[in-house]
Amino acid sequence: MSRLVMKFGGTSVGDVERIARVARIVAAERQPGRGLAVVVSAMSGETDRLVGLARAAAGEGGNGPVLGGADFNDEYDVVVSTGEQVTTGLLALALRRLGIPARSWQNWQIPVRTDAAHAKARVAEIADEDIGASIDAGIVAIVPGFQGITEGERITTLGRGGSDTSAVALAAALKAERCDIYTDVDGVYTTDPRIVAKARRLEKISYEEMLEMASLGAKVLQTRSVELAFAKGVPVRVLSSFVEPGAPNPGTLVCPEDEIVEKQVVSGVAYSRDEAKVTLLGVEDHPGVAADIFGVLSDANVNVDMIVQAEARQPGRQNIVFTCPDREATRAVEAMGAVRDRIGVEDIHVRRDVAKVSVIGIGMKSQVGVARTMFQALAQKGVNIEAIATSEIKISVLIDAAYTELAVRALHTAYGLDAA
Ligand code: ADP
Ligand code: ASP
Ligand code: MG
Repeated sequence: MSRLVMKFGGTSVGDVERIARVARIVAAERQPGRGLAVVVSAMSGETDRLVGLARAAAGEGGNGPVLGGADFNDEYDVVVSTGEQVTTGLLALALRRLGIPARSWQNWQIPVRTDAAHAKARVAEIADEDIGASIDAGIVAIVPGFQGITEGERITTLGRGGSDTSAVALAAALKAERCDIYTDVDGVYTTDPRIVAKARRLEKISYEEMLEMASLGAKVLQTRSVELAFAKGVPVRVLSSFVEPGAPNPGTLVCPEDEIVEKQVVSGVAYSRDEAKVTLLGVEDHPGVAADIFGVLSDANVNVDMIVQAEARQPGRQNIVFTCPDREATRAVEAMGAVRDRIGVEDIHVRRDVAKVSVIGIGMKSQVGVARTMFQALAQKGVNIEAIATSEIKISVLIDAAYTELAVRALHTAYGLDAA
């Protein structure tokens, strides 16, 4: 017996016609001796709509979850998890229409256990026996992505884009041969194909590179799904749900580094506009100050990313710049404002119109001059760099958000990634 997990994102199940095509794609993967489990997202736009309802009911305007609000997040999860339940039933019906035995499995029926961190839960354990036996008997299982259930039987969600992680976790639990992620693009590209027309589809990408790409802004796979696939050794393929079965659809394979023969110095460019830059001016300079500041931010649930520290003009003072997700900027400034006098900070500034642009590649490990190419390409376009962060396989720069697309295109060209 072999097993395959397939996942379809929101646009792919956006209406009943698309769900019918998904059913045909699933039908084409049926083979004797192979069990199929299909993870689905909510119809596109549906999760946003549900988030809006939850926030309105709680008296919160705007869009997006209020992460960290303990008396909001548990019921937020109850509301936003419903979108996926609808698509499981619809796909099961569409498969039965084709004469294929199929049933939906809600997370409590499997069960898929998570921790209790509402709105950003992590999968702890998936009981594979019942669902495994059912798919082995030829009944296609349709599972709602993005959610699970705690030991206390409360519904949780895994964070936006979490259906990718559901699919990989299920593939690991079922010991599936592969996890196929069907989406609205036909693979992982050298950069977001929606902003760079010359972006190229990659045939393969290593887990390490994909992890950096995802965490640096390429939303084609949720970061946690790549982490999990890497840790559990699940081969992941990203491919299009917009082609009829039988048409060529090679997609992109996310795989171990040693399976990639030609290692590019730079394989991809990612960007994120969800950034804010906070500057702490004239901070008293003595041991323990950084620990104090970043301790306060951590207690306030602020995810700090880049950090730059430099001597200030006044003796005995320094300036500290850090970045965090834009939606956490207000919280960060409030938290710093509250301890400003105690820590000794002269002034606090925040800039929200910044973006992070990153180049990623495993070949960088053994190549010099990668940073120079990046800085030269940006300088030629007159783009100013406000902060820099590096790891073994990536370089990120913080820039004015207005230059995001210009910078991404310039870097894509500078590293020779443009399609012919
Ligand atoms: P789904 O609803 O199927 O989960 P998402 O919208 O979450 O789909 O992810 C697919 C989108 O990711 C694409 O439409 C594309 O705009 C975006 N994207 C960003 N970077 C990349 C990249 N490097 N390669 C492919 N797609 C990317
Ligand atoms: N429907 C959820 C979201 O929009 C999960 C997902 O699509 O992966 O974030
Ligand atoms: Mg997604």
